[in-house]
Amino acid sequence: MILRLAVPSPLRRLFDYLPPVEMPSATASGLQPGIRVVVPFGPRKLVAVLVSVESDTSVTHDKLRHVLEILDTEPLLPAPLLTLYTWAAQYYQHPPGEVFHNMLPALLRQGRPASHPGRKIWCLSAAGQTLEHNALGRAPKQKEIVEYLREHGEMDRDMMTELEISPTAMTTLLKAGLIETTKRLPRAKQGPAVKSARENALQLNDEQRTAVSAIRKSLSAYSCFLLDGVTGSGKTEVYLQVIAEVLEQSRQALVLVPEISLTPQTISRFRKRFQCRIAVLHSGLTDAERLHAWLEARDGIANIVIGTRSALFTPLARPGIIIIDEEHDNSFKQQDGFRYSARDLGIVRARNENIGIVLGSATPSLETLHNALSGRYHHLQLTDRAGGAERPLLRLLDTTHEVLQEGFSSTLLQQIGEHLQRGNQVLVFINRRGFAPTLQCADCGWVSECTHCDARMTLHKTPAHLRCHHCDTRRAIDRHCPLCKSKQLQALGLGTERSEAFLSGIFPNARVLRVDRDSTRRKNELDILLNEVHQGAPCILVGTQMLAKGHHFPRVTLVAVLDADTGLFSADFRGQEHTAQLLMQVAGRSGRAGQPGEVLIQTRHATHNTLQTLINHGYGAFARTLLMERHAAHMPPFAHLALIRAEAEDFRTPELFLNLVRQCAARFLGESEAPDASTAVMLMGPLPAPMEKRAGKFRSQLLLQSAHRSNLQQLLSKLCPELEALKESRAVRWSIDVDPQDMI
Ligand code: ADP
Ligand code: ZN
Ligand code: ZN
Repeated sequence: MILRLAVPSPLRRLFDYLPPVEMPSATASGLQPGIRVVVPFGPRKLVAVLVSVESDTSVTHDKLRHVLEILDTEPLLPAPLLTLYTWAAQYYQHPPGEVFHNMLPALLRQGRPASHPGRKIWCLSAAGQTLEHNALGRAPKQKEIVEYLREHGEMDRDMMTELEISPTAMTTLLKAGLIETTKRLPRAKQGPAVKSARENALQLNDEQRTAVSAIRKSLSAYSCFLLDGVTGSGKTEVYLQVIAEVLEQSRQALVLVPEISLTPQTISRFRKRFQCRIAVLHSGLTDAERLHAWLEARDGIANIVIGTRSALFTPLARPGIIIIDEEHDNSFKQQDGFRYSARDLGIVRARNENIGIVLGSATPSLETLHNALSGRYHHLQLTDRAGGAERPLLRLLDTTHEVLQEGFSSTLLQQIGEHLQRGNQVLVFINRRGFAPTLQCADCGWVSECTHCDARMTLHKTPAHLRCHHCDTRRAIDRHCPLCKSKQLQALGLGTERSEAFLSGIFPNARVLRVDRDSTRRKNELDILLNEVHQGAPCILVGTQMLAKGHHFPRVTLVAVLDADTGLFSADFRGQEHTAQLLMQVAGRSGRAGQPGEVLIQTRHATHNTLQTLINHGYGAFARTLLMERHAAHMPPFAHLALIRAEAEDFRTPELFLNLVRQCAARFLGESEAPDASTAVMLMGPLPAPMEKRAGKFRSQLLLQSAHRSNLQQLLSKLCPELEALKESRAVRWSIDVDPQDMI
């Protein structure tokens, strides 16, 4: 009996082992794929996962080692997930051991038992139960807790968050002996999840109803839907009503959202609608909490699982639907290590589990749109905003002939003033944090460059310093030019800090709130800022793309985009697609409640075709134009790409290595029969990366392109073992990115 294992090692293969030296026959029959074992690996002991039991091996018998210990009596993972992990490792050319290792909760990969650690809950003590009604008269929060516990019996951490109860209030009650804590071990609920939630389902409009019933009809088998609905069209309501049906069938829903949208707002929307176990997988969980949520999902105790990218790998006992909200979002593709796309793997998973999957977006990726237009996915459209809100009016402001004040045209400033005067809120979008992207000498033209990257250092004023946004190097701001000693150093270009300072000066009576990664670094800072916006008083929100996604700002009636041009004319072939998505997402923040919204976009290319199509005919028309261009240029989704990257301390080594890779690939391609243009794999490069030097390393890349995914896959699977074996591969750091999103 040979055990084929995923062992956490950087090698792209599985490893064969013999069963433990002494093993009762009863244990042997329990050796099912999906259990964990401990194995000797070199001098170390590692936790590995059994992928299959084989009857023979290509390893010579005297080299085979024995498994040391068996950790589980039953599989940790259900079979479809095991298949998914293995498939993903193969497709993304990533070491299978690392895939398994990374996707398991930390405690499980350390070999801890897969048993529920229990969830901490609070309930009333005997003293608390008999407490007089008015005894807590002057402590309203404590009173609220006691009343809640009287009604519901217990409270957990999720409910504390939901009711905005601080840990201090709990501690005070604990110290007073009025409440006590215990551990609750979960029990799987039989039958459908209890409903009776605090909020009722909305009355659907026609398009929503069509979408909901189409999806509900195909819950019992694989099918993929693109829910293509403008911002505010009520996609979330569609998800909620589909999920209601899934829960009714006693099945589970898996919901993936972009990193930036996993906010209390999002979660609270689900909690208000469904009175059931919702496991939220966010980055703030402790290891024990994460294990707990994972097990609850696997054992069918959690009815709904919500999380970002990696939540896709959560096992489910009775999967019913997968929903991927904002499917176009870049955060669904991991950009380092295991470079998977949670959206694409979501589809593979839905197929394996034979369930439905919904991809929702106001600005679908060209890949998904193409699949919908060609009939591979069902295309469901929501063309109007729900609940009577009007769609915002988009306008281009041509700034070609204008002298701008700190990036603002006079028309824009005037408009901002008018919206504020009417008591509304204004959102100013500028996709650059810091004060200015460049510090320049007015006399000789010197600019502040990063010594580790081919990039300029950004000027920050609060606190004052220069910082490289690529490697995070920081230094003090120069007092005079290092070349000519001139003191005439000027800040060039615009960042959020600069706009914040400028707007505060122009509108002294308005609150200006800046939202970017710097202003929200500490815990809760974003919540505090958003809370203030939700209070509704007139204000100007200045921010980066953090503001663009998911938020609902009912009082914002004007969205101003300071500069649409940088992204539209970037070198990346996805530049236009990403910029348009971002513009439409930001625009979607405007006028989401009763009042009509307006979007003003400053540009020096007001007559540019794509921009015109986007503004006048919407994202759908724009995306279709872009699809034709991609088709003509043999680019995704009409071709498939893989990028092999290499980096090293000196600039020659990565290129030399990639030249070897290219030769190797060419040899394999030469060996394959009769290549013609439609099936061939093209090799491009090696070329220096668009930013050749980054964080002290020189980077080069080789692009592989083919109209046929399977041809590209075949080549990669032959290429990988060769590259691992090349001795030159040890002089560089190299990686393979299948379906790359970013070419930098
Ligand atoms: P999306 O997810 O498409 O951006 P949301 O689901 O957030 O849209 O809906 C936008 C707003 O419209 C929300 O305030 C929501 O409560 C409301 N809404 C959605 N569907 C309906 C409906 N059928 N009737 C009334 N209001 C609705
Ligand atoms: Zn100078
Ligand atoms: Zn740098």
